[in-house]
Formats: sequence, structure tokens, C-alpha cells
Amino acid sequence: MTKLIFLGPPGAGKGTQGQVLAEFVNIPHISTGDILRSAIAKQTPLGIKAKNYVDNGNLVPDELILDLIEERLTQSDAQKGWILDGFPRNVAQADFLSSLLDKLNQNCDGVINLDVTDEIVTKRLLSRGREDDSELTIKNRLVVYRQQTAPLIDYYEQVKLLRNINGNRKPLEVSQEIKAIVKS
Ligand code: ADP
Repeated sequence: MTKLIFLGPPGAGKGTQGQVLAEFVNIPHISTGDILRSAIAKQTPLGIKAKNYVDNGNLVPDELILDLIEERLTQSDAQKGWILDGFPRNVAQADFLSSLLDKLNQNCDGVINLDVTDEIVTKRLLSRGREDDSELTIKNRLVVYRQQTAPLIDYYEQVKLLRNINGNRKPLEVSQEIKAIVKS
């Protein structure tokens, strides 16, 4: 499998695991959160528009993300595979991705859902200390996750792409399980 989506609540380990797996398979790790944070730091037009949403733990409007994903998946390094981390994050984004992949003659091979309890997620995020990791923002991100992103679990289950992974474990244990799935 070389075309993968990583799903899971904030703090589930999508970034860590996405990075490890991308190096292992030698494909790009595409994190919309990283792209947005870098745009905010550089104060690009995208960053300026996105900043308030990210700071408050809300999703940035779809129109800021969709073109960016299309452009990224069209680049040459993404033709042999990719790991999407943080996208799609709602049903509209998932529908967009599905038509985009049709248009590009690509298929998603699997969706890795990192299952982690709210308690562990909150603990991890508080100890990580990123700028959007304050207690209030974390609470909102979990609400946003439940309302807008968690429905994608059913969405991908229905098309038989979903693989559930217990993410309440040490990073090495999680990455070994993911590698085994991807190789199979
Ligand atoms: P986490 O996994 O901790 O939620 P991310 O780095 O994936 O962190 O995302 C950080 C923030 O970036 C989100 O809270 C949201 O504001 C914004 N963001 C990232 N990806 C998307 C997306 N696909 N659609 C809308 N907003 C996004």
C-alpha cells in the first residue's frame, strides 16, 4: 500500500506515524497541519487567512485546503504514493478527495484509523505544548474532531478501506503494526 490516509483525533500520533511510514516506504508525508503552520509562520496569504481558525482549534474553510491538496497530489513526487495526515477532515473534503483521485486515475489503498482515548490524547497534547495546545483549544479540537472528522470512520468503513489500529501504545509498537499492514 502506498496511498494512505491517516485518520484519528488530534494527538493520536498521525504526524509521528505518518513521518515514520513515509520514510519507510519513501513517499511524501503530506500534513495539512504542517503546511498551514508553515504558511502562518511565513505570513503568506494562506497563512494570514488560516491563522485565527488554527489558533482557536477550528477547521479552516475548505476552500483554503482543497486547491492546495490538488496541487500537492499533482506534483511528481506524489505519483508513486503519499500519506495524507490531517486531510480529509470532514465529509466534503473526503468527497472532494475521492473525485480528485478519480480524475488523477489514482486510488486510495487504505485508511489507517488511529484509535486513542480522549484521556490519553489530552495528556499527550498538553505535554506537547504546541501553540494551539492550550487546554481550551484542545477541548474545542476534540469537539470539532467528533462532529466533523469522526464520521469519516464510517465513511471509509463503508468502502472497505478502514484499518483500525490501537494507538494507545508506544510509538514503536504502533509503527510496527502499521508497517505490517502496509507490507501485506
Ligand atoms: P492535530 O492532529 O493536533 O489536530 P494538525 O496539525 O493536523 O493537528 O492540525 C492543526 C490545525 O490545522 C487544525 O486544528 C485546523 O485548524 C487546521 N487544519 C489542518 N488540516 C485541516 C483540514 N484538512 N481542514 C481544515 N483545517 C485543517
